[in-house]
Amino acid sequence: MSKYLMLVAGATALLGIAMLQASKAAQTALPSSDDFAARAKKLHFSSIVIDTHDDTTQRLIWDNWDLGHRDADGSIDIPRMREGGLGAIFFSIWMPGSVNGPTAVQKSLDQIDAVRRQVLAHPGDLALCTTAAEIRRAHADGKIAVLMGMEGGHMIDDDLAVLRMYALLGVRYLTLTHFLNNNWADSSTDKPAHNGLTDFGRQVVRELNRQGMMVDISHTADKTFYDALAASRAPIIASHSSCRALCDVPRNMTDDMIKALAAKGGVIQINYHVGFLSQELSAAAASSDELKKRMAEANISCGEDEACQTIETDKVIRAMVAEGKLPRVDWTRIVDHIDHVVKLVGAEHVGLGSDFDGADMPFGMEDASDLPKITDELIRRGYTDSQIKNILGENTLRVMEQVEKVSREMQAESNSR
Ligand SMILES: [Zn+2]
Repeated sequence: MSKYLMLVAGATALLGIAMLQASKAAQTALPSSDDFAARAKKLHFSSIVIDTHDDTTQRLIWDNWDLGHRDADGSIDIPRMREGGLGAIFFSIWMPGSVNGPTAVQKSLDQIDAVRRQVLAHPGDLALCTTAAEIRRAHADGKIAVLMGMEGGHMIDDDLAVLRMYALLGVRYLTLTHFLNNNWADSSTDKPAHNGLTDFGRQVVRELNRQGMMVDISHTADKTFYDALAASRAPIIASHSSCRALCDVPRNMTDDMIKALAAKGGVIQINYHVGFLSQELSAAAASSDELKKRMAEANISCGEDEACQTIETDKVIRAMVAEGKLPRVDWTRIVDHIDHVVKLVGAEHVGLGSDFDGADMPFGMEDASDLPKITDELIRRGYTDSQIKNILGENTLRVMEQVEKVSREMQAESNSR
């Protein structure tokens, strides 16, 4: 039995008991567990499920890895994306903020090339997409839409021409910062240096609007977020952030930020990283010297290989949870964060930004094949089909369509001058 079927069987068994009790009380006929499983499966696999942040590119670069084969490690490959019904994926173009200048540009091009070569190697499964319409077409053709997002403004080397070339190569969002500040924007995990965005930072935001690239504020300082929101003519996203009300870390968004983002039509894409989902785990991990020691030991064999470090760190956390030294975080926490956003601003402003292959995953959400569980759980919590489709991907498609419209308008304005 596949993981997915086992899950549906489990969920439907529970639901069956609840329904039996309900029907005894109400004396009315209720749908069977088979109906629930059929509805959940049909809904999930007919929806365009979009994940706006995956770090699998690091495996392509460091391990010369191929997406075609099912791997025991990591979270993303074609077989597991197919099993989980993942319809579109944004591969992250990323390097640490300490890599700068022409080196950062060269390494970005290497990563863009690696993603594009995977699409060429798997034409029956993957389609390189740059617009919402292309994603819909790929889905209709039975292919997985491959997109790229760039995680960190340092990779444009303070040059709008470089940014325009990334747009031309297919990059469809820029995360304004990574963990460190850059020359024009403050990060949420660095000491403030610019009071948010500089004037050049505002120019970057407007150029993103003009190029039809989404402005991504995951990783940025709160002030940078508000500055970017004010500067952008199009809705913006957080490609992989969760809710600070449920887990108080700087990488997550406050309720006020989520409300401001939503008021301008944007979407927060929930990050599955255990340290952003659970306050308890985050606090325990931060104060655990044993964790730091074991992570350092596990990473020695990886050298500079970022992909290896992620996989080894995840193994250490899981081992320490098994030993009772860290609290266990289950996948349903992801849906708790979705729920929080929906209660705050409605189901039109939340989506999925897993951070697969770049973070530590909760139990039960080890890889892309587990994604149908999210649909099951949303149904169990009373969401309608259209709300679920919005959360799974339609909200992101809506933002992309609006970003594309603003781009057309701005290009027409500059042509008419
Ligand atoms: Zn990140």
